[in-house]
Amino acid sequence: MGIRGQLTLLVPGIVALALALGTFLEVRREQRESVEDFRLRNEKVLQSIGVTVAVNIAQNDMSGLDTLIAQLSESMRERDLKELAVLDDQGRVLAHSEPERFNTIASDAFSQTATQVEGVTWERQGESFRISVPAVSGIRWGTVTATYSLDRLGAQLARTRLRLGITSALLFLVLGAILFVGLDRLVVRPVRTLQTAVRRMGEGHLSTRVPPLRGSELGELTNTINRMASALQHERENLERSVTERTKELQDANARLERLAVTDGLTGVFNHRRFQEQLQAELLRCERHKRPMGVLMVDVDFFKKVNDAMGHPAGDELLRRLAEVLSIDLRQTDLIARYGGEEFAVLLPETTKSEAMQVAERMRLAVEEKINDGKTPWPAKVTVSIGVGTFPEDGKSGEQVLSAADQAMYVAKRQGRNRVIGARGVIA
Ligand code: GH3
Ligand code: MG
Ligand code: MG
Repeated sequence: MGIRGQLTLLVPGIVALALALGTFLEVRREQRESVEDFRLRNEKVLQSIGVTVAVNIAQNDMSGLDTLIAQLSESMRERDLKELAVLDDQGRVLAHSEPERFNTIASDAFSQTATQVEGVTWERQGESFRISVPAVSGIRWGTVTATYSLDRLGAQLARTRLRLGITSALLFLVLGAILFVGLDRLVVRPVRTLQTAVRRMGEGHLSTRVPPLRGSELGELTNTINRMASALQHERENLERSVTERTKELQDANARLERLAVTDGLTGVFNHRRFQEQLQAELLRCERHKRPMGVLMVDVDFFKKVNDAMGHPAGDELLRRLAEVLSIDLRQTDLIARYGGEEFAVLLPETTKSEAMQVAERMRLAVEEKINDGKTPWPAKVTVSIGVGTFPEDGKSGEQVLSAADQAMYVAKRQGRNRVIGARGVIA
């Protein structure tokens, strides 16, 4: 059960309990006072009767006494009288509201005591109240005893008890309702709002804020939670930013490493490994799509002479220049790699034999024109021999096409260098 339910039962419950206790004590007090009041009233009545009774007895007017008792008991019935009797000093009944009891002896303890004591006697017996007064006129002539019913008084007290009980119950309900509504508005709803916001924060929505809540304690709590969420959000943003930056740095570093792993350190074009990977991948693609592919094997003519004449650093420089010139006319999808030493291999996807021959010829011419531009004093004219192999004509696999291109390149060497030679047919 929630706080609201518990308090709704507890607080009005305590109040109702206190009220019930108060009711009980009040009813007891009222009961005591009512009985006392009842006694005093009836004592006075009996005392006033006592004088007349004493006169009747003194004059031995028994019939007058009878008539008096009969009339009185008749008129006092409405005032809760049950019995009215006149006794002599022995307890003998001289007159009675029930005439058949005339001349009998009232032997009960109350009657016996009443005839003996001097003053007024009373006693409560369950729901009856007995009272006696001496009948005195000069001397004591007898005793008047009366028995009253306390039923009416009891009923009156029961009504009081019921009224107070109903008041307690109503108070319980009204207090309960007020507490229920009050707690709902002041505590339950704000706490639920707080709970919803905190749950959302816990689920990672750190931009969530608790709306302003009434009440200084809840307001304070709201501010604290909102400040905490702001701090967490700030921290998370910083963390995310730093993770993004680190990830970017790592990606860049990886890309650089990847690039380094497939790049030729001297010329900056791809290396042998990358060429082989790309050759296999492209061949598979061309096979699948039934597309042609060209492979060029480019070898520098008499390169050794450059090294011999100008030294290796100059030879290296020539290799760098050659890589640049050979790359000039290539398409985005083409790939040039340094195959080894002074040999370059070129991959031409989607290229037929005649197109590959044209590309190779353009490269050969570019070397002739751009390398031998007169600015660099090479010992002799720098030229290249190019062998052309194509898929599917010259081989079914990458190795076969490459080997066909390599052989064609050697044919070019043999035929006098500085030329392009195409491979002839499929190699078994
Ligand atoms: P050919 O026309 O028959 O191809 O003659 P060539 O001199 O080019 O052929 P050869 O295979 O006899 O010589 C290749 C030379 O390339 C030998 C080697 O010293 C040189 N070379 C290989 N790699 C490098 C390199 O990275 N830097 C330099 N400077 N020279 C290299
Ligand atoms: Mg060579
Ligand atoms: Mg060579």
